[in-house]
Amino acid sequence: MPGSVANRRLLAPRTLRDALRMLDAEGPLTPMAGCTDLYVALNAGALKDTAFLNLWQLDTLRAITTRGPVLSIGALCTYTDLISSRIVRSRVPMLVAAAKEVGGPQIQNRGTIGGNIANGSPAGDTLPVLAAADAVVVAASVQGQRRVPFAEFYTGYRRTSLRRDELIVAVELPAIAGRQWFRKVGTRAAQAISKVVMAGVDPGRGQAPRIALGSVAPTVVRLPGTEAALGSGAALTEAQRVLLEEIVPVDDLRSTAEYRRRVAANLLASFWNDRGRR
Ligand SMILES: Cc1cc2nc3c(=O)[nH]c(=O)nc-3n(C[C@H](O)[C@H](O)[C@H](O)COP(=O)(O)OP(=O)(O)OC[C@H]3O[C@@H](n4cnc5c(N)ncnc54)[C@H](O)[C@@H]3O)c2cc1C
Repeated sequence: MPGSVANRRLLAPRTLRDALRMLDAEGPLTPMAGCTDLYVALNAGALKDTAFLNLWQLDTLRAITTRGPVLSIGALCTYTDLISSRIVRSRVPMLVAAAKEVGGPQIQNRGTIGGNIANGSPAGDTLPVLAAADAVVVAASVQGQRRVPFAEFYTGYRRTSLRRDELIVAVELPAIAGRQWFRKVGTRAAQAISKVVMAGVDPGRGQAPRIALGSVAPTVVRLPGTEAALGSGAALTEAQRVLLEEIVPVDDLRSTAEYRRRVAANLLASFWNDRGRR
């Protein structure tokens, strides 16, 4: 039976320290946060893992704090937490825009930012935002914490640099100067995985923008060539040409590669032409 939970083991730590100790001593364990991705895999019969670590009780991973210019968002923050946080709304409006487009209210209430990062789908809606923000993933194990720049976190399609004895505990965002922009193109406004998703930061004053795209490559990607072209004053059409050389979209059940290429170029135009509307 595809969705059976028989013969699976569940550990339920009450503290982060216990969770890390269990991962170290009783692993391999699959972390469980909101289970919105895991349950889909279970239901499809694709979840082969047999031992799970339930993180849901670890309230310390729900904190949203600031340390000077750095905003730290706990891995267990749900999309609803992000949408309702005044500090996230004021510092990272593009993350709130992304959170509002994830699934529907049920998914927003359960799905977490840590789960979106760890799941590593190239269509994950928060991932272009974190890439454009130059975020840092905070990973913890019994040996301590390490900080991984978001640009180095993914090593391939749905592969991350996280070790099996590590949890994502937070994601840190530096102060973001300038205009933030987010746009998701999917089949419909809610409950649709993106065909293409883009986030951008435009510092203005002639500085190069930071642009990230999802669903156009095996991982979320930054567009260094496109960023440099726009930063050096190239025409939009030239930047679009560079963008099309930087992405490698595929045909799949949600869209065609050609459609994704067109949409990506159009999104770049929208982002750049929105400059007057700061
Ligand atoms: C109906 C539906 C609609 C959806 N719509 C969207 C959408 O529009 N956009 C979008 O981006 N996603 C969407 N999703 C996918 C999903 O909701 C998100 O990826 C969500 O953020 C996953 O978080 P979670 O807490 O539920 O993760 P889980 O399902 O609990 O875990 C997902 C993966 O991450 C790992 N994991 C979780 N937390 C941690 C941690 N702290 N440290 C290490 N590993 C961890 C788990 O082991 C697992 O491999 C949708 C899902 C459904 C079912």
